[in-house]
Amino acid sequence: MSGWVAVAGLGPEAEDLVTPEVRAALAEATDVVGYIPYVARVAPRAGLRLHASDNRVELDRALHALEMAREGRRVVIVSSGDPGVFAMASALFERLETATDFAGTEIRILPGITAMLAAAARAGAPLGHDFCAINLSDNLKPFDLVEHRLRHAARGDFAMAFYNPRSKSRPHQFARVLEVLREECEPERLIIFARAVSTPDEALRVVTLAEAAPEMADMRTVVLVGNSQTRRVGPWVYTPRGTSVAGAAG
Ligand code: SAH
Repeated sequence: MSGWVAVAGLGPEAEDLVTPEVRAALAEATDVVGYIPYVARVAPRAGLRLHASDNRVELDRALHALEMAREGRRVVIVSSGDPGVFAMASALFERLETATDFAGTEIRILPGITAMLAAAARAGAPLGHDFCAINLSDNLKPFDLVEHRLRHAARGDFAMAFYNPRSKSRPHQFARVLEVLREECEPERLIIFARAVSTPDEALRVVTLAEAAPEMADMRTVVLVGNSQTRRVGPWVYTPRGTSVAGAAG
């Protein structure tokens, strides 16, 4: 039987947010590769080898998967959320770009529900108009670039989703992010801190920019920032579909 690699998104965490397509790939797999906590989400079974590795070894992990597929194994590389959003799908193609000997390997990318969409659904519809997603981690880009993109997104009045907002190794950067937002946006701007969405620890907090504090975010939090029109309706937060609500109907 010929081998393949599937890069699959496991969704935010809850079992019922894993797509049937991803389940089917896992059921056919001989090997699962990925970051330790994501591999831990895959149920062990006879005939399935689990290869958990530490963070920041994405290119080695991708190569390992390609090599196993070349030997005829059926390999699923797991990511949380969607594999194309700050995750393993790009890492696989980065590795493939510099490799010469995997031309015939079958590769599939299987989408998943990304954190910002799971979080947005819990809150209402804060990403209902134009929005952008920014990875606040400076592992793979300088923090100056994060700041530049953030400022321009705010000036463009995009709603925003921030991934990897704050870690122990860079506790001050999220404070700087809030500072930039305060320079560009009004104090009433709504911000949603959505932590551990779809897990037993899930917590959603809606505050204004004036109330927002760095400690409200950690690495299990995705932060959603509304645009200038984002508002509350009862317990919900939503962004109208156009720049004027009346004009946006239809
Ligand atoms: N590929 C993933 C993102 C990986 S980056 C996706 O599409 O969702 C890891 C970041 O995603 C975390 O720091 C956090 O900002 C966000 N995240 C992942 N799962 C989450 C969850 N269940 N709840 C809230 N944020 C989550």
